[in-house]
Amino acid sequence: MKRLILAALALTAAACSPSDEGADADGADAAAAGEVNIYSSRHYDTDLALYDDFTKATGIKVNRIEAEADALIERIASEGEFSPADILITVDAGRLWRAEEAGVLSPVDSAILTERLPAHLRHPEGLWFGLSTRARVIIYNKEAGAPAGLETYADLADPAYRGDICMRSSSNIYNISLLSSIIAHRGADAAEAWTKGVVANFARDPQGNDTSQIEAVAAGECRISLVNTYYLARFAGGDADQQAIFDSIGVIFPDQSGTGTHVNISGAGVVKQAPNRANAIAFLEYLTSESAQRYFADGNNEYPAATGLAANSAVERLGPFKSDTLNAAEIGRGQREAVEIFDRAGWN
Ligand code: FE
Repeated sequence: MKRLILAALALTAAACSPSDEGADADGADAAAAGEVNIYSSRHYDTDLALYDDFTKATGIKVNRIEAEADALIERIASEGEFSPADILITVDAGRLWRAEEAGVLSPVDSAILTERLPAHLRHPEGLWFGLSTRARVIIYNKEAGAPAGLETYADLADPAYRGDICMRSSSNIYNISLLSSIIAHRGADAAEAWTKGVVANFARDPQGNDTSQIEAVAAGECRISLVNTYYLARFAGGDADQQAIFDSIGVIFPDQSGTGTHVNISGAGVVKQAPNRANAIAFLEYLTSESAQRYFADGNNEYPAATGLAANSAVERLGPFKSDTLNAAEIGRGQREAVEIFDRAGWN
């Protein structure tokens, strides 16, 4: 297994250095300001502009390794004290928690990060910081009509929706994190009863990714599903066919009169052995600036994590909502129990 992961890492890792032109122009500055080494599981074109802007502003050269999150965490752990990694960037509170558990992150105390990011989007001890958010929302087929009384995640277990619900596999981290938040709010017993109720309402066995759920609901193969907002925004901002699919789908932000809709984060933390710790903190602070937040959120149609910033127009089409303020660290902690509950309930 480990060999497989390492082989995959070798195939997908892309160490990147600035162009010769950049090195010539900024060579002296870069030498003085040093560098920062980023291990990232994000792969968006906008990220390149983000890194370039940071180098222009600070003279700090950005080196980047991209791979799957679990492979990056394993790599940092196995490199140990010789790891060149300064920052780990990844998606989902569950993966940030895996990094925390693996002991590869180091606490950061930054007044800038504390001021710009709401408390629930930062690790309580500063091990990681949220950079963008996505909400997990209920979608329904508009032609079949808005499902009466469907307002909360809890409602998805109502027998009124028997045979109506399509879901992604429980092995996917998005559903694990959602269930983890339900455990935190309502306790493990209620979470298990909920999971069994939803399974009883399945229209078919869990299959496909979030995009498949959107297509299945639009096609009327199932009436109801759960997806992350950025997938919807992709359809909303896509070509004519994708927009037609978006238009045939209704969106419900769950739990608006209760704890709020479950949101998850992309985030980053400074690595324990970071050889360029000061540069790493400067980079994290830069990522929460207004211009960087726009690039970062737009890379994947997400909501900026920093307070007071709007998302792009495709995302804003989904409308305003109240988000759950459960700390993302809490979402991480319940992952293992969530997996066990899914297994017992037969949500494959
Ligand atoms: Fe995704």
